[in-house]
Amino acid sequence: MSPIARLRQGDRLVLATHNAGKLKEFQELFEPFGLELTSAGELGLPEPEETGTTFAENARLKAHAAAQASGMLALSDDSGLCVDALNGDPGVYTADWAGVPRDFSHAMKRVEDALQAANATSPGQRKGSFNATLCLAHPDGRDVIYHGQCFGTLVWPPRGERGHGYDPVFMPDGYDITFGQMTAEMKHSWAPGRLGLSHRARSFAKFVEQQIEQ
Ligand code: IMP
Repeated sequence: MSPIARLRQGDRLVLATHNAGKLKEFQELFEPFGLELTSAGELGLPEPEETGTTFAENARLKAHAAAQASGMLALSDDSGLCVDALNGDPGVYTADWAGVPRDFSHAMKRVEDALQAANATSPGQRKGSFNATLCLAHPDGRDVIYHGQCFGTLVWPPRGERGHGYDPVFMPDGYDITFGQMTAEMKHSWAPGRLGLSHRARSFAKFVEQQIEQ
């Protein structure tokens, strides 16, 4: 099968997410490209169950569900926090650790309690990464995957009121503030042609290079 054609200005794309924080970040990243964006949430598409055991499996599930239901190209992101001292947890269960309805103060405390239980007290014992896997799916079943990763240290107590999810406890390597203390521009540190800082920006940089006509 031929690769999915590159996107051009004016093309329509559905973002396969019902998460308002993620949608906002995507809209910020897509700003320079003049694509017509909508989201699975806005279209009222059903939210598929994330039954995969890897970020890539879940990204595929979400992108294909949205592409099938909308008949449009769909882009999904499956992401999460992997903590070394917790053997990669919460990983693909990062959202689940926030319970229902989502409570990220509770989720951050749960990570901290697990780190304390593992005696991970020094910064060197509290390393982890945010991971993002993007999947672009065509309604005809073709897809393509891009990964991005950002390494850092888990801090406690949470710092900063910005961002979403676990941002206030994640300090990326090379910085002395958390994602929760950064503006969106700083967290992404992305512009066309650059690598970016956040896991999402880094996966997006690869997506742009391969999939968007420039
Ligand atoms: P997903 O919707 O299954 O991909 O869930 C991803 C989970 O990881 C959500 O709970 C998010 O809050 C969390 N997460 C992903 N990226 C970030 C980020 O950039 N900052 C904070 N939390 C994030």
